Amino acid sequence: MNSAHTFDTVIIGAGAAGMMCAARIGQAGKSVALLDHSAKIGEKIRISGGGRCNFTNRNLNGHDGSQYFVSQQPRFVRHALSRYHSADFTALLDGYGVPYHEKHKGQLFCDHSAQDVIDVLQRECAKGGVVWHTECLIESAAPFQTASALRFELHTNQATFRCRHLVIATGGLAVPAVGATPFGYELAKQFGHSIISPAAALVPLRFEHWAQHGYDTLAGIAMPVRISSGSGKQAVSFDEDLLFRHKGLSGPAILQISSYWQPGAPIHINLAPAADVAAALCGGKRNQKIQLNTALKQLCPQLPERLLDFWLAQPQFTASATQKWADIPDAVLQNLGHSLNSWTLLPSGSDGHKKAEATRGGVNVKEINPKTMQSKQQSGLYFIGEVMDITGWLGGYNFQWAWSSAVCAAAAVAADGC
Ligand SMILES: Cc1cc2nc3c(=O)[nH]c(=O)nc-3n(C[C@H](O)[C@H](O)[C@H](O)COP(=O)(O)OP(=O)(O)OC[C@H]3O[C@@H](n4cnc5c(N)ncnc54)[C@H](O)[C@@H]3O)c2cc1C
Repeated sequence: MNSAHTFDTVIIGAGAAGMMCAARIGQAGKSVALLDHSAKIGEKIRISGGGRCNFTNRNLNGHDGSQYFVSQQPRFVRHALSRYHSADFTALLDGYGVPYHEKHKGQLFCDHSAQDVIDVLQRECAKGGVVWHTECLIESAAPFQTASALRFELHTNQATFRCRHLVIATGGLAVPAVGATPFGYELAKQFGHSIISPAAALVPLRFEHWAQHGYDTLAGIAMPVRISSGSGKQAVSFDEDLLFRHKGLSGPAILQISSYWQPGAPIHINLAPAADVAAALCGGKRNQKIQLNTALKQLCPQLPERLLDFWLAQPQFTASATQKWADIPDAVLQNLGHSLNSWTLLPSGSDGHKKAEATRGGVNVKEINPKTMQSKQQSGLYFIGEVMDITGWLGGYNFQWAWSSAVCAAAAVAADGC
């Protein structure tokens, strides 16, 4: 049966941003419905951070956080992140007695489980009297003009909804298995928005002939590296852990660089960032009686032995590996050192949306007001969270963007007295 329900605000997408926005609007005294096509809400929160949800990063402390975001307009995030920052979200968790800890580089995780964050958001929604509709399939959404005002009408499998404010919080394309769809992009296009081409981000990378080169035998090795890509103003670099896999490379270093990587471009990995290996090998070889492999183990103690043995077994180094260090020509040592300090690889692709943690691209933020998240194309229409062309670094930045953008949109809706 199809009956019309009227709310001040309808939010499509009951994920991180949608729940936060609904709670705030409801608590401001406005009627709000939260619609989601999935049976379960907040699924990405539940699977995030290895089940412990890295819900924010202390680096987003109210200062300019734009350096932690990938976008055609990274400065777009500045207002929202200064209005509602990491300490605001931890204060919310503190209010509910949720325990959490800092892991690495400002990243905050739940002590128990990501469910704690979902519970907080649900309780906040309950306080605001938010009306939920799960398994709600949106068939159409369009504006219509009443005698006095502009409204939106949504047709769904459950009911017809009418609202003054329509908030799109349908997220990105990562992990379709937990409900990700391109719905937000399609709807944005319908209202005249342009879309920055979406691509998998925070995702493992693959390489051609990986197994043929024997790299698959290194699977399981994890080590700190410096990874970089791009040049000039586009150059980016991260000091993070690298993980060798059977099918390619992963680990925080690769996930971070993947958000910047463009098909056809190389990435550079410094496997021994603490040392200039070529200089140390050439400069230290005089009168040395030890073999090259022993020398390398001494000079780069942080390099896993399995990796070093593999490296020296490559055709260009194998003859020298058991030679006396002092007898090896500088050209060979230079070449070896350079290969470790600047291993250059050409990714052939990524594991795609199925394995990604985020989506790069999305609704062009040039067409959105950074203070209110309201569309510049369609009055009363708002975008929040990952559906926009805003992608955070690994480390809690994406969730903080979801919270901050949601709070801005909610404040704008609440302030609209009509
Ligand atoms: C495996 C994994 C781990 C992650 N870990 C972290 C982490 O630890 N820290 C961090 O900061 N970020 C992490 N992220 C990223 C983070 O989950 C997202 O950036 C964040 O959830 C985005 O919030 P959102 O509200 O914009 O979208 P989502 O949380 O994705 O919510 C979108 C909602 O919209 C609904 N929806 C989609 N299409 C439709 C439709 N057609 N009709 C109705 N509803 C629809 C979905 O069902 C979903 O409920 C992780 C992501 C993944 C995939």
